[in-house]
Amino acid sequence: MEKPDLRQTLGRLLGPAEPEIGCDACFEELDRYVELEIAGEDADAAVPGLRAHLEGCPACREEHESRRAFVAGDRSL
Ligand SMILES: [Zn+2]
Repeated sequence: MEKPDLRQTLGRLLGPAEPEIGCDACFEELDRYVELEIAGEDADAAVPGLRAHLEGCPACREEHESRRAFVAGDRSL
């Protein structure tokens, strides 16, 4: 489900001045972010603004924790 996000659209117009991504982008990038984290790659560099968003958004932080636990558990099986 894709709906236009005003803040994202504005961010695109204004350039990289907005350091934090929104919930929609966060959810889209979260799998990739977790994969990179688990692999020991620089996830923050690959998905700029996601870490900042997690710090300010308890809902996404919880989602991040559960996906990381899921991926980590998957790997250890
Ligand atoms: Zn969020």
